[in-house]
Amino acid sequence: MRIYISVDMEGVTGVCHRDHLLPGGQDYEKARGWLTGDVNAAIEGALEAGATEFVVADGHATMRNILLDELHPAAQLVTGPAQARNRPLGQLCALDVGHFDAAFLIGYHSRAGTPGGLLAHTWVGMLVSEIRLNGQAASEALLNTAILGHHDIPVVLATGASDFCLQAREDFGEGLELVQVKETLGPSAVLTLTPTRSSELIRAGAERSLPPRQEPTKVGLPLSLELDLHRDDMRERALELGGEPLGRLGLRYRGDDVLTVMEAAWAALAHCLREDAAFLK
Ligand SMILES: [Zn+2]
Repeated sequence: MRIYISVDMEGVTGVCHRDHLLPGGQDYEKARGWLTGDVNAAIEGALEAGATEFVVADGHATMRNILLDELHPAAQLVTGPAQARNRPLGQLCALDVGHFDAAFLIGYHSRAGTPGGLLAHTWVGMLVSEIRLNGQAASEALLNTAILGHHDIPVVLATGASDFCLQAREDFGEGLELVQVKETLGPSAVLTLTPTRSSELIRAGAERSLPPRQEPTKVGLPLSLELDLHRDDMRERALELGGEPLGRLGLRYRGDDVLTVMEAAWAALAHCLREDAAFLK
């Protein structure tokens, strides 16, 4: 069995604050260790259940958070920034390196606008107020599950804070194995397990989740992906790369191919973030 592991950081054991999420922040280096520990626990559990190979995709911010020296040797790591020319699907990459039997989402968080949600956002917090997939408000977990489903890969395990787990249960139903590693107290506070305890739970959850019981998620086609941005100028910039304007601050991407639609939306957001050359400022 080959397992694809998509990794974010907001939902990792112990992480509660922006400082944990970006290089230079207080305890960021420590948080990288917690992150790598959660991933290793998932790998250990999956190995117990008969999995043999793993591709781990670092999918948070700089996408260079996982400590390679400490990563389980059964895994290979996708690392490097999600520029459209590098990683056109953002958090996911190298999905076509052979077939994967199942996917894990480790360290995930709730979607933008979740009341009291821990570090909640969707894709790029400074740009996006909501993303809808075929009309349904979408978290990164939902978007990535659609991409994985396109590749016939079922998502069988997810880990994160209590608000993420609640949302994931609503979005994905009872079939998904969920491991809560901390209770959300507010947007930047948690009641967290220790890495030792959360690793035990993640290991057990990963083992229970295999072999996969659920089918890959197939989204209705043609796919409609709608993004509401925070400001007019952001939308104007995104529209330079295509898409249709929607309402006052929205964009819409439609098509019969899941990957093409997702890539177009991700490229538009990456384009929004690009700074003008210094001499043009
Ligand atoms: Zn993240």
